[in-house]
Amino acid sequence: MKVCYTKRDLMTEVNRLRREKGETIGFVPTMGALHKGHLSLIERAHYENHAAVVSIFVNPIQFNNPDDLKTYPRTLEADLKLLEPFDIDLVFAPSAEEMYPPGEPIEHYDFGALERVMEGKNRPGHFNGVGVVVGRLLHMVNPTRAYFGEKDYQQIAIVQELVRQLKLPVKIVPCPIVREDDGLALSSRNLLLTPEQRAIAPAIHRILLASADLCKAAHRDDAVAPAKHMVEQAVADVPGMTLEYFEIVDGRTLQPIETWYDAPEQVGCIVVRLGDVRLIDNIRYGKF
Ligand code: AMP
Repeated sequence: MKVCYTKRDLMTEVNRLRREKGETIGFVPTMGALHKGHLSLIERAHYENHAAVVSIFVNPIQFNNPDDLKTYPRTLEADLKLLEPFDIDLVFAPSAEEMYPPGEPIEHYDFGALERVMEGKNRPGHFNGVGVVVGRLLHMVNPTRAYFGEKDYQQIAIVQELVRQLKLPVKIVPCPIVREDDGLALSSRNLLLTPEQRAIAPAIHRILLASADLCKAAHRDDAVAPAKHMVEQAVADVPGMTLEYFEIVDGRTLQPIETWYDAPEQVGCIVVRLGDVRLIDNIRYGKF
């Protein structure tokens, strides 16, 4: 497993991989503090392509909250150890100066309605930061396929739109959410939870599953409001947990819906806070 720290090295190594291993390259961008969720994407990239490339970079420009950026776990050495048995071809771990050379302008993207809801609305500038880093990484690696987790459901839609706008010849592969046995979605931020917060965090998934029961019992033209209220109430009933948002949206446009009839596929997207830790999750209600 080769580790590159500069764009130049990365591009040289990617060319070498193409010559020596074969044409297809699978790419998994991450912010490190790797866990089994990341590893599921990495295994898939490895399995479906001649070579696999992983990036580890805590992208400062996608953090709208400086404290969140400061406390975000950085565990590069442990990450590289964890990756060793996976036979990854290349890891790219650039510095912030390497990704954002001082004086170089930052691109500006317009993702339209996709970025005006949920994460986009609650974290100003977040998706532009995601677009910039993913766009730059995709240009450098030029992968055949890039793998993203459905935990960040809106992010996948943004990245698909980015790829359309930049006309990049890459296939975006959405991958299922990996959870702990108690239902908590794996996240690097789980490391920041106190034992007490960790104990109550699985309530997020339990509450989403309860909302799916309401969805199953509903008729197509029923309002989604009762499911929203149930989730809002259930989160309010968990001491120490606060709701940032819960939206039931059209799975393709990500716009909130009013009745189950409004979208062929509906997704419930949630963000809660446990103290200062912000956790994201979602549930796909399936097709009516
Ligand atoms: P991050 O390091 O949090 O930026 O995540 C890197 C990639 O891993 C993103 O595409 C995430 O959606 C994905 N990911 C994070 N957690 C999980 C999980 N529990 N299951 C599946 N994919 C995940």
